Amino acid sequence: MATRFTRRDLVRLAAASGMGVSLGGLAASQRAVAGATVDGTSARIVAGKVIQPERELPVLNQTDVLVVGGGPAGVSAAIAARRTGAKVALVERYGHLGGLWTGGFVVLVIGHRVGDLQVSRGIGEEMMQRLERLDRGICRRGPGEDPVVDVESLKYVLVDMITEAQVDVFMHCWGVDAIMDGNAVRGAVFESKSGRQAILAKVVIDTTGDGDLYAAAGAEHENRPCRASLLYRVGNLDKLPPSLKPDMPKHLRNAYPVEGVTWNAIHSPEIDGLDVKELSNLELKARKALWKRMQETRQTPGYESLYVIDTAPQLGIRVTRVLNGEATITAEDHRTGRKFPDVVAVGGVTGRDGAKLVATGPWQVPYGALVPRKLENLLTAGRCISFEKKMADLVRLIPNCWTTGQAAGVAAAVAAQEQCAPRNVNISKVQAILRQQGAYLG
Ligand SMILES: Cc1cc2nc3c(=O)[nH]c(=O)nc-3n(C[C@H](O)[C@H](O)[C@H](O)COP(=O)(O)OP(=O)(O)OC[C@H]3O[C@@H](n4cnc5c(N)ncnc54)[C@H](O)[C@@H]3O)c2cc1C
Repeated sequence: MATRFTRRDLVRLAAASGMGVSLGGLAASQRAVAGATVDGTSARIVAGKVIQPERELPVLNQTDVLVVGGGPAGVSAAIAARRTGAKVALVERYGHLGGLWTGGFVVLVIGHRVGDLQVSRGIGEEMMQRLERLDRGICRRGPGEDPVVDVESLKYVLVDMITEAQVDVFMHCWGVDAIMDGNAVRGAVFESKSGRQAILAKVVIDTTGDGDLYAAAGAEHENRPCRASLLYRVGNLDKLPPSLKPDMPKHLRNAYPVEGVTWNAIHSPEIDGLDVKELSNLELKARKALWKRMQETRQTPGYESLYVIDTAPQLGIRVTRVLNGEATITAEDHRTGRKFPDVVAVGGVTGRDGAKLVATGPWQVPYGALVPRKLENLLTAGRCISFEKKMADLVRLIPNCWTTGQAAGVAAAVAAQEQCAPRNVNISKVQAILRQQGAYLG
């Protein structure tokens, strides 16, 4: 359920908070409101139901563009919006950036080239180039290869880029509600150790991967089940006797930029990635399965020194909510290579069929796939945009999350600057800025 504010409420909130001050600068009374157990704000049992009373929220920040979710889409959106000249805040529920790319150990970047043509460029390509400048930051950057990134190097690069861009970053903040004024989104409500607070914005970009914000705001969407995975890293491969290497088990063969390290996953059947019970169940089962797999491996002569370095802090959920947008990416448009006048990103993959390289794409993303029907002032990007089920395995690839993120960031900044609804933004201007920022639009 979205939090509904009238215009008057918003003005009152802004005045009460002194807009843009940090929590440290809030008056004691405001900090008390943020506290979870302050008298009068605690939930109560009324007639057998748990009821949460209405309460006033401190405003943590006021901005042009608010990006909720700091994965590949969100970081790209925030940087793109800043580079377009907007004031930007980014909110992330964990203490690092990168989403599944870092927190889920999804280190393999598939799908940015069609043959020799690199279709996903711009800010994502800049991330990869910065990784290349680090020692052991990335490997397999050659033609016909899918790059693999080092998780910690990538976390560092993303922090470097986001701070360089001067984005206001709020970590350990979970976006829990949209702030509504009629059918227009005016910001979001967050839960953190500082309590429940609001950020007000001209345009909100939902890059939570799960459409948390657009669902709260009432956007039309679908819920899709998906296979899920717990990824992990294994160390000491460099200690294996060389004679074992040609016959190594398949689960130890994935390349990683740091020598002696590999990664793999425990997979589950389809689950509802929004169901906390199913998520918890999967964590419990996957950890046992991983332990068993590694114990068995270590009992094989020669493999005794292998060990699990770590498991991903974030479960690998491929898809949950998918927007019903103004436009939808379809398998038919992909097959026919349809071109859109409002193209804002291009996807494409060169994969392998045995020894043969097989290209798919280029295929275009129309701006409408980032725009919800009916709801104003909100855009989305990444794995929760509008696409047909058959397109899921292509749309959600990391490079498409960078490119749709960058597109949403530029469009949101232009809409905020020109004071127009994001759906009515001057698309030629957005495309021109995207090209200036290094994006490829076909
Ligand atoms: C098991 C698995 C294997 C995959 N393999 C590949 C592969 O080999 N190659 C490839 O290119 N792609 C792969 N993908 C796809 C790719 O990893 C994702 O689609 C991509 O990371 C999605 O990016 P995103 O920014 O849209 O969302 P995410 O990466 O999910 O990032 C969302 C961010 O938002 C934050 N967030 C979520 N909810 C909230 C909230 N309410 N408030 C605040 N913050 C929030 C999260 O913490 C996260 O940082 C794989 C995915 C999975 C799950």
